[in-house]
Amino acid sequence: MNLDNLIRPNVRAMQPYSSARDEFQGDARVMLDANENSQGSVGPAAYNRYPDPLQRLVKTEVAALKHVRPEQIFLGNGSDEAIDLLVRLTCVPGQDSILVLPPTYGMYEVAANLNDVRVERVPLTSDFQLSEDAIAKVLASSAKLVFLCSPNNPTGNLLHQTAVERILQGFSGLVVVDEAYVDFAAAPSWTTRLAEFENLVVLQTLSKAWGLAGLRLGMAFASPAVIGYLNKIKPPYNVSEATQQHVLAGLADVGRYETMRQQLLEGRRALESTLPSLPVVEHVFPSDANFLLVRFRPDATAMYQHLLARGIVVRNRTTQPGCAGCLRLTVGTKAENQQLLAALQQYPY
Ligand SMILES: *Cc1c(COP(=O)(O)O)cnc(C)c1O
Repeated sequence: MNLDNLIRPNVRAMQPYSSARDEFQGDARVMLDANENSQGSVGPAAYNRYPDPLQRLVKTEVAALKHVRPEQIFLGNGSDEAIDLLVRLTCVPGQDSILVLPPTYGMYEVAANLNDVRVERVPLTSDFQLSEDAIAKVLASSAKLVFLCSPNNPTGNLLHQTAVERILQGFSGLVVVDEAYVDFAAAPSWTTRLAEFENLVVLQTLSKAWGLAGLRLGMAFASPAVIGYLNKIKPPYNVSEATQQHVLAGLADVGRYETMRQQLLEGRRALESTLPSLPVVEHVFPSDANFLLVRFRPDATAMYQHLLARGIVVRNRTTQPGCAGCLRLTVGTKAENQQLLAALQQYPY
């Protein structure tokens, strides 16, 4: 792979914005370079200074936690920002395409549509894996990006390692493995393979297992060359000072992370063992995530309404390819899971 050939020519040629904090780092007695307010801030805390554009302190901690180097890390306003930037980095609007494997996470298509980028769709099998034919189609595609969501949303399964390896070996563009749910999976992260594949980009997030969806911090792991390009095109201050400070405190609270993770895994096991015995449940798909895709009978949308009427909102995925009759159930607290099971047992009354 020649990375430069995958980058949009205008991005290769452009000069990035050089912010005040790019041109001067550190502390001076008198900071008059960034048009900040030296008097202070409104509200309860001081945020009058711009944050570190490259989030160095956060990256030091993420690097230690994930066993990667800081120059292999991009941090964004959720992984959704990384998805959008990857599309804009590589795809010429009105000309290039991305490749997705439905059913999968909807933001890949939204990012492509917003940027006037074509979407190629190669469906997964009925058990949500890549068939031989699908792998062949991916390898033959000239899309600039392929998004492999593993564990996949909304299906919950990991993609088979050998299929992902074959795509990494043979696909001509960047291979984005979205690991939003990796913390719940019984498999190592693809970050452990970064040294082998220069076309690999791994996405992770603090929104799920770390419980920080409201804070917005997404991570992309890739070669320093890919990360350098993402840094070139990102908004200069894309991760706020409040987020950076809170994330540093959150990452230090790894005990709480592990406790919550174990409780969610226990909740998943409890739902997995009980759901199949309910007459309304036709199939529970195996999950390596913090949710379960469940096929209901006789009518999943009626079940969705039944739950809603009892104050329980789940995700109706019946219109997604391969997901007819399916609802996606997020694992909740022990009490929430019990309420869910009780409401399912009450159907239709
Ligand atoms: C939840 C989720 C994300 C996370 O997005 P953030 O912007 O980091 O909150 C990314 N990818 C998938 C597949 C998800 O389900």
